Amino acid sequence: MPEGPSVRKFHHLVSPFVGQQVVKTGGSSKKLCPTTLQSLWLQDTQVHGKKLFLRFDPDEEMGPPASNPLPEPLQKGAQEEEAVAPEPALGPNSQKTSDEPSQPTELDPHGLDVPESLWGESPATGAQRWLQVSFGLFGSVWVNEFSRAKKANKRGDWRDPVPRLVLHFGGGGFLAFYNCQMCWSPSPVVKPTCDILSEKFHRGQALEALGQAQPVCYTLLDQRYFSGLGNIIKNEALYRAGIHPLSRGSRLSASCLEALVDHVVQFSSDWLRGKFQGTPQHTQIYRKDQCPAGHQVLKEALGHPGGFQRLTWWCPQCQPQLPPEEPQQLQHP
Ligand SMILES: [Zn+2]
Repeated sequence: MPEGPSVRKFHHLVSPFVGQQVVKTGGSSKKLCPTTLQSLWLQDTQVHGKKLFLRFDPDEEMGPPASNPLPEPLQKGAQEEEAVAPEPALGPNSQKTSDEPSQPTELDPHGLDVPESLWGESPATGAQRWLQVSFGLFGSVWVNEFSRAKKANKRGDWRDPVPRLVLHFGGGGFLAFYNCQMCWSPSPVVKPTCDILSEKFHRGQALEALGQAQPVCYTLLDQRYFSGLGNIIKNEALYRAGIHPLSRGSRLSASCLEALVDHVVQFSSDWLRGKFQGTPQHTQIYRKDQCPAGHQVLKEALGHPGGFQRLTWWCPQCQPQLPPEEPQQLQHP
């Protein structure tokens, strides 16, 4: 799924449409009926971590519609509609341990999501004015053009991807959203102090979280502390800081943890800048067989026991394991 830098780029693409009215809608989303956005005005857009938020208001002159002209809510099964596009063939063992989530989107168990009871599928009336967009593995936003098939599918068809939502605006342009989940929410959950790409990112808070007695590779993906950080940034920052992914944060020195946070911020910012300059971000360890020093790279699915396992790449030489912890004092007098 797109990480923080990609979603920031999407936000940049959407921003010029703020202040315009939706004049025509389209898209395959069944959970969120695209026609509910008809005639609404895009009033604001925000990005937080890996989520994009769009605020829609009805025209002040008209007020909210008196009656709800929407079709009946679709049956439960239709919600599966929002599932991501089929993932590329990754081999027989790629199911759960694959780096690519096979679920519709990766829902962070400890994420910043508002309670589900506050979510709605209703249009932007009353308090539910923010459309929250969470992107799947192939999630993207296109401006004034549609995504085209890059290759034939398994059946040999060249079928273009189907956008979940298309919004045509009064200014003549349009936005197409692909491979994403959308829902209405009362307000964006704003915690810029956790957003690795926000100027307000709070290093102290991040360092404290990393200092927990659990593997740092778990903490890095925890969106409560590192909103916008995904698997690529995790692997790259750990490699650049020379830290073994399973090192417990509580056993790392303050300077080690500082270096890790520095690399998280540096790599993410470079990636974001590259997106605007059209230069791809180079990875040193993610999906590599060898590290830049020529060592053999190890790969394993790591995560909280019972939780979502993410493929992790590391160099056993550049990122050595910490020595075993001192055993409890066992000696008898
Ligand atoms: Zn190495």
